Amino acid sequence: MSPQRAAVMPHVGIAGAGLAGRLLAWRLLRRGARVSLFDVGRRDDRGSAGPTAAAMLSPTAELAAADAHIHQLGLRSLDLWRHWLDALHAQTGHEVYFRREGTLVVAHAPDRGALAHYEALLRAHLPAGEAEASLRSLDAQGIGAAEPLLAGRFAQGLMLPLEGQLANDQLYAALAAALDAALAACGGAWHEQCPIESVQARALLARDGTRHEVDLAVDCRGIGARSEIAGLHGVRGEVLTVDAPWVSLRRPVRLIHPRYALYVAPRPGGRFIVGATELDSEDAGPITLRSSLELGSALYSLHPEFGEARVVRLAAALRPALPDRDPVAAVDAGGVWRVNGLFRHGYLIAPAVVGQAEQGIADALGLPPAVDQEFAHAA
Ligand SMILES: Cc1cc2nc3c(=O)[nH]c(=O)nc-3n(C[C@H](O)[C@H](O)[C@H](O)COP(=O)(O)OP(=O)(O)OC[C@H]3O[C@@H](n4cnc5c(N)ncnc54)[C@H](O)[C@@H]3O)c2cc1C
Repeated sequence: MSPQRAAVMPHVGIAGAGLAGRLLAWRLLRRGARVSLFDVGRRDDRGSAGPTAAAMLSPTAELAAADAHIHQLGLRSLDLWRHWLDALHAQTGHEVYFRREGTLVVAHAPDRGALAHYEALLRAHLPAGEAEASLRSLDAQGIGAAEPLLAGRFAQGLMLPLEGQLANDQLYAALAAALDAALAACGGAWHEQCPIESVQARALLARDGTRHEVDLAVDCRGIGARSEIAGLHGVRGEVLTVDAPWVSLRRPVRLIHPRYALYVAPRPGGRFIVGATELDSEDAGPITLRSSLELGSALYSLHPEFGEARVVRLAAALRPALPDRDPVAAVDAGGVWRVNGLFRHGYLIAPAVVGQAEQGIADALGLPPAVDQEFAHAA
C-alpha cells in the first residue's frame, strides 16, 4: 500500500495485544483500517490470561456458572471460529488445532451424587428444546467407546457433544504472523513492552509519557484496565501443563468432584492442559503447593498412566471479570471503545464479542466489509 493511501485510512489504536486485542486488530486490518497495537509485554510473553488458558469451548458446561446469554454467544462463536481459523490459515499458512468433538464428563463411584447434581444443573439451565442435542448420559460402555483410555474406570458419565477446544499457543502465533504482515503493509506498528496508562477517545497515553494520537482508541487490556473500568476485577485461575505422549484422549475430559472440578484438555503432540481452581483472588503470583498437589493427584486419579507425565509448566493468571459476569464490547460515555469482562469463557465467546466491536467500529469509521481470505491492504 502506498504511504499516501495509508495516511487516509482511519487509524485505530488498540491497548492490549491479548486474546481480544489481537483478534480485533486482525479483524480491523482485514477491513482496511490502519492499526497500532500496544502491549505491556512482548508478543510471546505468557503471563496474561490468554496464553495461560486451557481454551476449551464449553457452551454447555459453562451453564453451571454462567447465564443463557454466554451460552448463546458461545454457540455463535463456535461456528465463527471455524471461518476465522480458515481465513487465518489462508493468510498465513498457520494451521490452528481446533476440534469440535464434545466434552466427556466423568465421576468416580463415590462422587455419583455430585455428577447427578451437575447434570440436573445443566438441564435446568439449558434453553427449552436444547437438552437433547447438548447433553447425553453415558454408561461404562459408552464412556469406553468415547475414550478407550477410560474404559472400565467410570460407571457413569455425560457427553456434551456440541463442545470444542483450540490450541491457544497456535492461535497466538497465527495471529502474530497475520498482524506482522498486515501492520507493515498499512504503516501501523506493534509496540511491545509499551505499557498504556490511560486510554482516551482519540489517544493512548503511554507510561513513558508519550501520547499516541489515533482516530479511535480501543481498550483491550484485560485486567490491566482495572483502574479505568468500574468493578473490573481479577479471578485467579491455575493450570498445570504436562507431556504424556503415550496417553491418548480425543476430547477434553471433566472430572466431577465435590471439592474441585478438574478438566484435562488434550493438545497435539501428547500435551495436556490441566486445570481446576477458580479463586476469587487478585493474587497473580505463582501457583501454590496445594493447587499443584490437587491438580496432580486429580489427574493421576483420572488415569494412573499420567503418573510418569513430565511437568512442563505450572502457571496462574487473572481472568478479567465484571460484576455482572457479562462481557462488554461497546463505546463508553467518554468515547473509548472497551472490549473486556471475558472472564472464564474468553475463548468460548471471543468471536461473537470481538465481532460486535468490529462491526461497531467499522460503522463509526465507515470501514468497508472485509475482503475474505485476503487483506484489503494487499490490493
Ligand atoms: C487459568 C485460566 C484458564 C482459562 N481457561 C479458559 C477456557 O478453557 N476457555 C475459555 O473460553 N476461556 C478460558 N480462560 C479465560 C480467557 O483466557 C480470558 O477470558 C481471555 O484471555 C481474556 O482476554 P483479554 O484479551 O480480555 O485479556 P488477556 O488475555 O489477559 O489480554 C490482555 C492483554 O493486555 C495486556 N496489558 C495489560 N495491561 C496493559 C497495559 N497497561 N498496557 C498495555 N497492555 C496491557 C496484557 O499483557 C495482555 O496481552 C481461562 C483463563 C485462565 C486464567
